[in-house]
Amino acid sequence: MESEIKLKKPVRSGSGVTPLTVVLKPRKCNHGTCIYCPGGDYVPQSYTDKSPAIMRALTFDFDVRKQVQSRLDALIRMGHPTEKIELIIIGGTFLQYPFNYQYDYIKGCYEVLNGVESKDLKEAQKINETAKHRVVAMCIENRPDNCSVEEIRLMRDFGATRVEIGVQILDNEIYKKTGRGHTIKEVIEASQRLKDAGFKVGYHIMPGLPYSNVKKDIEKFKILFENQNFRPDQLKIYPCQIVEDSPLAKVYKKINYKTYTDKEIKKVLTEMMAIIPDYCRVMRVMREIPKEKMINEAASTSIRKEVEDEIKNKKTSIKEIRMREVGFNKNLLKSNTKLKIIEYFSSKGKEFFLEIVNSEDVLFGLLRLRFPGETFLDELKDCALVRELHVYGQALNLHEKGKTSQHIGFGKTLLLEAEKTAKENGYKKLAVISGIGVREYYKKFGYELVGTYMVKYL
Ligand code: SF4
Repeated sequence: MESEIKLKKPVRSGSGVTPLTVVLKPRKCNHGTCIYCPGGDYVPQSYTDKSPAIMRALTFDFDVRKQVQSRLDALIRMGHPTEKIELIIIGGTFLQYPFNYQYDYIKGCYEVLNGVESKDLKEAQKINETAKHRVVAMCIENRPDNCSVEEIRLMRDFGATRVEIGVQILDNEIYKKTGRGHTIKEVIEASQRLKDAGFKVGYHIMPGLPYSNVKKDIEKFKILFENQNFRPDQLKIYPCQIVEDSPLAKVYKKINYKTYTDKEIKKVLTEMMAIIPDYCRVMRVMREIPKEKMINEAASTSIRKEVEDEIKNKKTSIKEIRMREVGFNKNLLKSNTKLKIIEYFSSKGKEFFLEIVNSEDVLFGLLRLRFPGETFLDELKDCALVRELHVYGQALNLHEKGKTSQHIGFGKTLLLEAEKTAKENGYKKLAVISGIGVREYYKKFGYELVGTYMVKYL
């Protein structure tokens, strides 16, 4: 069986699905350039030509079909299961590219994974529902001011299930001075619309921006979870760096800007990690920018580990998801698992965060159930929403029997509990934002395709 092959990098598929990253062609963002952001001319905005994904994309002149094929071949060679793919689209602001480029880009991804060409996107998606390499999740990087109703509709049509938006710091003055081109208002609106359309929402946070300081960063970060207008599902925390070819590289001396020292980064991260609640996952800390592309002295890349060790030594528990996932814990106890439910308000809706954990709080699976604040997509009328159903552990192919937590029924338990909770609260329908490649799974539980969602009458 494929899962018994010794994996070269098991962590890549350790969260249950195998990520496949594709890069957009270079293009400048419409609003201008945020002060810290490199790229846009020869490489995509916010990247350098020395990042591995960009170097690969450059080899293929950013042709998406060639990128997908080459990544797929590499993942297979490394022994990763490739039946459940999370497609991740990076570089610039996807929603600002011309529509024809967006459409052909997404269609191309499905076509390569399907191994056949299609007459249109709809056909490519239909084929992918039962293809060998299924897109079970799709992530798009976006700006808070590119999340209008029409843009959300479009992201659903493409099959996206997760959207990451640049938030950086909740401070209008800093937004203005660093050229972000939006305000907190757009962050609030985007968060609500995305959650009410069932998306999983990730924020990019940037401590150490010009005009901020350690105290301000921590204060503003607290608001992310104290104020229900925000409460993201995921975070990427990237301390600001002075990257060659960014506006900051030209002005940092003039504005007397200095990046945080390792000590300051550690302090900020330690305080941030202690605040993050159970329902949020820290996807990444520190951007991997090659040293030769940085003007400042590069921060230590092991800071996340050092911070986590320090918190553990102090016996403070870290609640965020990634640290508790079974894939990252040696403790593989299947016994004593129980259902834990956290209820909280978020962006005018009510969230139920359902988890299967064991007595040590090791996480085996989770489901995000939402009673939306507003409904603006016709197919979601009167529906409660499942924004995420995820069972952790080493990814397995679709029909492999489970040895860890995948494929041993945790998904079903969580889904039944969500249906029960929605029904008890007066909902007649439950809609799941399902990746194209997971539609077959939900059909087994009585769900049918309505618009772009899998819906069940309760
Ligand atoms: S929105 Fe993102 S990609 Fe665009 S300039 Fe700002 S940081 Fe760079």
